[in-house]
Amino acid sequence: MKQAKLHCPACGKQNGVSILYGFPSPEAMSMAERGEIALGGCCIPWEPMENRCLACEHEWGKADIGEDD
Ligand SMILES: [Zn+2]
Repeated sequence: MKQAKLHCPACGKQNGVSILYGFPSPEAMSMAERGEIALGGCCIPWEPMENRCLACEHEWGKADIGEDD
């Protein structure tokens, strides 16, 4: 399954991918190597962003990580 990349609001390149938080599975690792997703790391930031641009590293869009209010 291949996802179209998103347009980055900062640099305008179509190089934005979803950020995956938490410890990555082997599949997620290889997807990140192919530039299909970005890895956010094990430590989830206070306000995790949903997308990251692979060209300029801009992050945008508040992520919905399924937390209850
Ligand atoms: Zn960008």
